[in-house]
Amino acid sequence: MKKDADKLIDAAEQMLEGERLLGGLFLPAERNPLPGPAADGGGVCGAEAWPDGRAMTAEQRAAALATIDVNEVRGCTRCGLCQGRRQTVFGEGSPMSRLVFIGEGPGEEEDRTGRPFVGRAGELLNRMITAMGLKRQDTYIGNIVKCRPPGNRAPAVEEAEACRTYLVRQLQILAPAVIVTLGNPATQNLLDTTVGITKLRGQWQKLPAIAPGLGGIDVMPTFHPAYVLRQYTADVRSKVWADLQQVLDRLGISPPAPPAKRKPQL
Ligand code: SF4
Repeated sequence: MKKDADKLIDAAEQMLEGERLLGGLFLPAERNPLPGPAADGGGVCGAEAWPDGRAMTAEQRAAALATIDVNEVRGCTRCGLCQGRRQTVFGEGSPMSRLVFIGEGPGEEEDRTGRPFVGRAGELLNRMITAMGLKRQDTYIGNIVKCRPPGNRAPAVEEAEACRTYLVRQLQILAPAVIVTLGNPATQNLLDTTVGITKLRGQWQKLPAIAPGLGGIDVMPTFHPAYVLRQYTADVRSKVWADLQQVLDRLGISPPAPPAKRKPQL
């Protein structure tokens, strides 16, 4: 187990170095004029220690995420979803991203590959991110639960609850400026609400204080890409695009100018 962790940390460090050399790790400064993470850790909750990403370097964040993934999530049996999984799907992306997408759980393709959002819904999410003028690797993508619910059903409340410790710690390490929740289960779980996505989408929310350091993070609920594929209408697509434009605005990023007379193709 330790060897696996070391290998993953080595791979993460290599990836980070490659990203540093190629200049692809961070959002380009001209597209991300927000100030960098505060270095003081915020001083919330006095003596209580938590993995506060705001005070961590990219390498430290990558290593902390890899440690949770390899040492805890991959062997997790905290809920019944462990019985049907091929492998866990922890999440992926830039450890320094200011923008995090959270869905409900892995599907068949994700269960097979161990990566989030790689099926048809993932292709659409990639198109959404591209339409924002970003690259998938500029963002971080994860789910409420790390194991595939059978038949692609929504995670049960107790499953999401059992898995929440991992998501909470991911978010504490990532310390994002904005979380985009994709669909009803992710939105209701993270916002601790029973209000549906149709009412909440497009309206800024604040993450409740579900753990130290997380209360108050901006949350934009929008439709899940799988729903958009099922309801592939101009109305649904334009609503999602409007939500994403609000996210860009909150991050201080100008959306790319579309070619004349052409709307973004979500
Ligand atoms: Fe553990 Fe989460 Fe998988 Fe349940 S879904 S077994 S809590 S990793």
